Amino acid sequence: MSNLAQRLREIVGDAFVSFEPEELYLYSMDQGTMPPAAPDAVVMPKTTEEVAKIAQLANELKVPLVPMGGGLVLSGLTRALKGGIIVDMKRMDRIVEVNPASRYTVVEAGVTQGKLKAYLAKHHPELKHSMPDAPPAATIAGNICIHGSGHLSVLAGFHSDMLTGMEVVLPTGEIIRTGSCSVSPQWFAKAPLPDLSGLFLGWSGTTGIITRLGIRLFPNYRFNDVLVYVCEKAELMPKIISMLTSTQVAEDMTPWMVPKPEWAKGFFHINVAFGAHSKKELIFKRNLLQESVRQITDTKAAGFLPIPPVQKERFMKIPSPDLARFADARKGGGFEYVGAIMAIERFAEAYNAGIEIAEKH
Ligand SMILES: Cc1cc2nc3c(=O)[nH]c(=O)nc-3n(C[C@H](O)[C@H](O)[C@H](O)COP(=O)(O)OP(=O)(O)OC[C@H]3O[C@@H](n4cnc5c(N)ncnc54)[C@H](O)[C@@H]3O)c2cc1C
Repeated sequence: MSNLAQRLREIVGDAFVSFEPEELYLYSMDQGTMPPAAPDAVVMPKTTEEVAKIAQLANELKVPLVPMGGGLVLSGLTRALKGGIIVDMKRMDRIVEVNPASRYTVVEAGVTQGKLKAYLAKHHPELKHSMPDAPPAATIAGNICIHGSGHLSVLAGFHSDMLTGMEVVLPTGEIIRTGSCSVSPQWFAKAPLPDLSGLFLGWSGTTGIITRLGIRLFPNYRFNDVLVYVCEKAELMPKIISMLTSTQVAEDMTPWMVPKPEWAKGFFHINVAFGAHSKKELIFKRNLLQESVRQITDTKAAGFLPIPPVQKERFMKIPSPDLARFADARKGGGFEYVGAIMAIERFAEAYNAGIEIAEKH
């Protein structure tokens, strides 16, 4: 271990390596319910070259590596189950480029959702990226690694679908690039070569450490609105969602059900968020959405809920303050991320299974 400690210090400097038990304890768990598992060391690299040297060293000494972003995934994926080194990416936090014409950005792997959001708001207010409802300290790379989703997913798919290129350090320490950045200076697309990004997406950091990535950006509309559609039958939800999405107007749709307050109990709500460059366009899009479900609305089996402006404002906040509040265990909340990725026609089945699990626990 002393050989490992000495060589890690030579790579990143004394201040960015820790073997201290109290610090390793903090890295042994996340906010989810999985049992703790502490690493032998934590290291915080600043450059791709440092990550490559760490990987070469770990490969030589046969020590496991666990990359970590915000450590907020909630299913314990950043625990060091076989010991080894946690590679905490938070110091690699540079926003390298924003390309407004081709609408993409290139960021280092430690850049957080909150940092990119604040940067775009300040320097490119006409652009936005798709944010999950995770706390702003979650990283863009960590979320893409687990096929995360967010506020533009109805429009553009999983966050891994919005990827335009990657720089990755392999377990051998070699550095590779995927996407257009592997053959040109631009990071605008996964094409033109065979797309190897799938070797690192959904693998939870086990096949390589992403050091830099490109993601798509989207227009940040001046005018925004949210509609809330309500029905009483879970079986109707797939049809409603399918009709609403057929307009290709909604940026985000969030189905929600709550046992309290009493008036909301037993109802299925769908928040439908959309935006526009002008008021006229916003009204046009609102009409399109309302028309798309008229067939169901006319039967009175479902309908749009009038919501006061204050509540509307709250629904449009990104990330959602309500979800974070709900997840705050210290205030009596609780949250276990189950990553339900499923076809929409299984909505009722998933809902009933969720209720069964919630009542059991
Ligand atoms: C209140 C709340 C709301 C949430 N809402 C959402 C949501 O709307 N959508 C959603 O998708 N998730 C959501 N989550 C889950 C989770 O927080 C997010 O997915 C988060 O973005 C994960 O990012 P992270 O930086 O914390 O990743 P981490 O937990 O650090 O890492 C996730 C995985 O990726 C790997 N990894 C991290 N960085 C790298 C890298 N550079 N190279 C290779 N592998 C790496 C890790 O080893 C791990 O396996 C929510 C969580 C909370 C607490």
